[in-house]
Amino acid sequence: MGIPPPAYLAAHKRGTLAKRANQALAALRQCSLCPRRCKVDRSRDASGICRTGRLARVASFNAHFGEEAPLVGENGSGTIFFSHCNLLCNFCQNYDISHLGEGTDVSDDQLADIMLQLQGAGCHNINLVTPSHVVPQILGALEIAAGRGLALPLVFNTSGYDSISTLKWLDGIVDIYMPDFKFWDENVAHNTCHAPDYPAAAKAAILEMHRQVGDLRIDDASGLAYQGLLVRHLVLPGGLAGTAKVMAFLAQQVSRNTYVNVMAQYRPCGTARQMKPLDAALSTAEYKQALKQTRAAGLTRLDVARRVFQLW
Ligand code: SF4
Repeated sequence: MGIPPPAYLAAHKRGTLAKRANQALAALRQCSLCPRRCKVDRSRDASGICRTGRLARVASFNAHFGEEAPLVGENGSGTIFFSHCNLLCNFCQNYDISHLGEGTDVSDDQLADIMLQLQGAGCHNINLVTPSHVVPQILGALEIAAGRGLALPLVFNTSGYDSISTLKWLDGIVDIYMPDFKFWDENVAHNTCHAPDYPAAAKAAILEMHRQVGDLRIDDASGLAYQGLLVRHLVLPGGLAGTAKVMAFLAQQVSRNTYVNVMAQYRPCGTARQMKPLDAALSTAEYKQALKQTRAAGLTRLDVARRVFQLW
C-alpha cells in the first residue's frame, strides 16, 4: 500500500489550508493562541510571553538523526527549531534558543523555502520543534510550500502546552503529533515554568491530538512513521515528572497503543541548577523505575532502541 500522502495536501487543494492560515493570522491581533492567553497584538509587537511577533524566528534547521527511530530513517528528520517558547521551563536544554531567542526572523515565504530545502536534502518529514506560538506562520508557509511541491509528513513537536482552539486549525493538516507530557503535578508546573495549568492543558491537548490522528502508524517496508501520536516524557529527578500518573493517563484515557518515548537524558540546564532536586542528573535507578511504571501502566510501544539498552 505504501505511505499515504500527507494530510495537508488535500487541505491545500480544497482551500482549507489557506482559509485556516488566514484565520490564524488574524488571531495574532489579540493573541490567545496558547493557554497563556496574553491578548497582545502580535501584528504590531512581540510583547507576549513568547516574545514573538508577526514573523517566526528560526534558530536552525537540518537533517536530524537524534530523533525517534520512526522519524529518522536513513536520511534524518527535517527539523526546524523555532526560537522562543510559550512554556519556558527553567531546565530547558535549549535555553539560548527558547529563553534568549537566538535565531533569525523569517517570512512565511522563507519558512516555506526551508521546508523545501529539507525535502530536497532527502529528509523523511518536516519536524516543527517548539511550534505552538508560531502556528499562523507555519500554516502560511505550508500553504506556499504545498503549492511548490512539498509532500513530506508534518510533525508537530510540541511541549504539550497547546490550546484546543489552535489545535482545531491543525486538524487535517498535521500528520504526526509529538507532544511532551512533562509533569502531572500543577505545583511542579508552577515552580518550573509558571504554568500551573500545564497538566490540565497537556491532558486536553493530547486527547485532542489523538482524536485527530489516532495511534502512531508506521510503514512496514520503511519503518517510517507517517501518521499518529507519539508522546515524549522526560523523567525528572526526585519523581518530579509524576511518571506513573502520566503513563496511567496515557494507557487508560488515550490508548494502550500510545507510542511513548520515556527519556533518560535529564541534566541540569538553564536556571534549574539552583533548584532541588533539579540540580542533579537523573540516576539510572530513577530511570529504571520510570520504565517499570510505564510497563506497569500497560504501555508496550516504547521507543527504547537506542536509549534503554545501555541501562538494562
Ligand atoms: S502564543 Fe505567545 S503571545 Fe500568544 S498567548 Fe501564547 S505566549 Fe502569549
